[in-house]
Amino acid sequence: MVRQAALLTDLRSIAGAENLRPGSDEFAVDGVTPQAIVRPATVKAAAAVIGHANETRLAVIPIGGKQRGGPGNVPERYDIALDVTALSGVVEYEPDDLTITCGAGMTLAELRKTTAAAGQMVGFDPEIADEATVGGALAADLWGPSRVSLGGPRDFTIGLRVITGDGLITRAGGRVVKNVAGYDLCKLYVGSLGTLAVVTEATFKVQPLPKATRQIAFTAGSAAAACGIASDSLMRGLSLRSAVVTRAEERWRLDIALAGSEAAVERSARELASLAGDGEQETGDSGERPNERPIGVRIAALPSKLPALLEELPVGASFLAYPTLGVVRLRLRDEGELPSLMAMGAIVEDAPPEVKRGIDVFGPEPPALPLMRSIKAQLDPNSVLSPGRFVGRI
Ligand SMILES: Cc1cc2nc3c(=O)[nH]c(=O)nc-3n(C[C@H](O)[C@H](O)[C@H](O)COP(=O)(O)OP(=O)(O)OC[C@H]3O[C@@H](n4cnc5c(N)ncnc54)[C@H](O)[C@@H]3O)c2cc1C
Repeated sequence: MVRQAALLTDLRSIAGAENLRPGSDEFAVDGVTPQAIVRPATVKAAAAVIGHANETRLAVIPIGGKQRGGPGNVPERYDIALDVTALSGVVEYEPDDLTITCGAGMTLAELRKTTAAAGQMVGFDPEIADEATVGGALAADLWGPSRVSLGGPRDFTIGLRVITGDGLITRAGGRVVKNVAGYDLCKLYVGSLGTLAVVTEATFKVQPLPKATRQIAFTAGSAAAACGIASDSLMRGLSLRSAVVTRAEERWRLDIALAGSEAAVERSARELASLAGDGEQETGDSGERPNERPIGVRIAALPSKLPALLEELPVGASFLAYPTLGVVRLRLRDEGELPSLMAMGAIVEDAPPEVKRGIDVFGPEPPALPLMRSIKAQLDPNSVLSPGRFVGRI
């Protein structure tokens, strides 16, 4: 470990004293505290910090809104917290072009407000916290139940400006929708948890805000019946924004959000009621408070196999299931059930550091690991960026 005083002196001359602080627990990642916190004012200064870390073999972790509770293994090393929140603001927004370019430090609240003023939106799930930043949401590939209609970040991100582990500033994609030439590196950077590059700017496709929205809930006697209503409504082309199945003691509850034009939402609500047949319409919220349990895991299954998986979960399990996506997110009180869930292909989405330390949160090494290691070696040859956090502890 380099001496903190020497590191602070070096960083002061690179990024300016006003943008530098000694490390503190506020910027800890999974219980590991950095030696220094830098908040560069420009992309060039951020690249210089990473370049310096590359030369001196230090580890840098990019930090956005610090919402955390996210994925990733405990970092192997962590010297510098690179606070990207100063790289913020709208770079370019022409509502008629249906794209927006903004700094990675912009919060989702600011992004939502900016696009809403023009009657538009970027497809980040409404459930994602307002305080999350564009860079953090892209790094974690954040999506929720609305992915069925809005897509995930890989679908609506069309351009990125990034800094790779050797301190090089590069661009992937562009600022117009039809810009694909060569490999689409945006898809690689989204979800790479800051282990391949630090995102400094992003361009997104935007879409109109829906004119009408409506929430409807039903209960049904089986998981298959609840999931079936959701998949039928998708097949029929109803204006489905999201569908979530939970369990209410012996009954199964389906919460559906509709979004679209007034007429489409009206028609969809009518058709849904007839699809639900003798399913009882519900009012009030589902009572599900998943975040009260500290460990979050995600299991994916074919949508057709999801009901059987849900029926196997113990009564009292806390979960949100997305029937049209084939995904269930479970919250656990302790790690007791983790080994059996991970054997079923679950990944740990968030957990306290003491639980993470004993496992690889992404589960067994995938067959593509050698390929992933060689990509890491190309983009971050000295393992400067978030070492150890990704699949196979890359
Ligand atoms: C599957 C999943 C679902 C989630 N769902 C939700 C949800 O519905 N609502 C919610 O509020 N939270 C959710 N979270 C938590 C989620 O991690 C954070 O909300 C989000 O990533 C926080 O953004 P942030 O700006 O606070 O990032 P931080 O917490 O600061 O960082 C998050 C991760 O992104 C990296 N990172 C940050 N900025 C950059 C950058 N510019 N370039 C590269 N890497 C960067 C960090 O190193 C870190 O690994 C979810 C997490 C996961 C994994």
